[in-house]
Amino acid sequence: MNILVINCGSSSLKFSVIEACSGKDLARGLFDKLGSETPCYKMESPLLEAPATGSLPCHAGYETALDTLAAYLASEQLQLRIDAIGHRIVHGGEHFTGACLLDQPAMDAVKSCSSLAPLHNPANLLGIESAKRHFPKLPQVGVFDTAFHQSIEPEAFLYPIPFELYQQHGIRRYGFHGSSHKYVASEAARILGKPLKQTSIISAHLGNGCSAAAIENGSCVDTTMGLTPLEGLVMGTRSGDLDPGVIFHLHRSLGLSIEEIDTLLNKKSGLLGLSQRSNDMRSLRQASAEGDVAAQRAVKIFTRRLAKSIAGLRSTISSCDALVFTGGIGENDVQTRAETLARLAHLGIQLDPAANASAGRGQNGIITQPDSPLKAIVIPTNEELMIARETAQLVGSN
Ligand code: ADP
Repeated sequence: MNILVINCGSSSLKFSVIEACSGKDLARGLFDKLGSETPCYKMESPLLEAPATGSLPCHAGYETALDTLAAYLASEQLQLRIDAIGHRIVHGGEHFTGACLLDQPAMDAVKSCSSLAPLHNPANLLGIESAKRHFPKLPQVGVFDTAFHQSIEPEAFLYPIPFELYQQHGIRRYGFHGSSHKYVASEAARILGKPLKQTSIISAHLGNGCSAAAIENGSCVDTTMGLTPLEGLVMGTRSGDLDPGVIFHLHRSLGLSIEEIDTLLNKKSGLLGLSQRSNDMRSLRQASAEGDVAAQRAVKIFTRRLAKSIAGLRSTISSCDALVFTGGIGENDVQTRAETLARLAHLGIQLDPAANASAGRGQNGIITQPDSPLKAIVIPTNEELMIARETAQLVGSN
């Protein structure tokens, strides 16, 4: 079954076409700067020699992007058959515990979650509505970043604030990056040769956004992100955990508005804020090697807090088969893995430095010594494949 996976951001549309059972990538691409004066696109397929690139008319949006995409997929050279569409949706609140056919009640439920993700869900909905108009005969499925975390129990998802805020307004921890954590959990089970339902791991998704999750017997029991993706680990530009009192102080003593604090904590903090240089781990590693003290400190805070969170998550599950690193940093940054694991020796992790140095680059790899009581594994994530699989599974069973 060929699945078109669509991920709509506020000004972009990312897509891939994946043969769900083999995982084969048939096409992928990005429409960028939608709604601006200079929207542009790049689409490519291993079945064609050259990528298709170009610009779209001024202020073109999802409609024009999907016109261009549909024409590309149906073009004489490609002629790709699509059997269903899987949409990445950021927030499913408590409505969605798994993938779901996007009929009217489901669309209404996604809309009702918009207040929890005001920057993401409305963009996702616009993309779905456009896709429904362009491909009216195809089943359209929603796959939610939050769904995998719906197995988390109240003792882990409730904030210690007045209970009615949860009851009346849904203020609780939801967690994100669900497709990535779910994908690496299934890959870890395969690598360890165990059924997923008997596999327990802690997964660390370290990209621009970062989160870790404790997964016991295939189900998520806790994660570091909360009501929004701002909670938890230090990220590229997001602060992660801090004393909520900092927000009052920024407002009352420094006169910052709520909007300014929102921007400060989401876009100007994390690695960028600490280093005053970059949100990109590669640049920070290079700057650190050249002696930049702020970059060295930023990276140290990143790995220190990561190790502290992993140790905390370990206390939420009774056994653990492996610690998994994924995402751009987790898959590629040898030093982040080494520095984090050096702080976690007490969990029984014995790093194999040579295996660590050669792991990643698109390959799975165990990076601990053969007799290490707790294994660490690098697993390249594939959220699109997870979305394609879930879409195919749902469509196949209907
Ligand atoms: P996103 O969350 O946007 O999908 P990615 O998963 O691509 O982001 O991760 C981006 C992060 O991965 C950046 O901090 C980048 O510097 C880091 N990264 C990518 N490649 C490397 C590398 N070879 N070494 C160190 N860090 C890397």
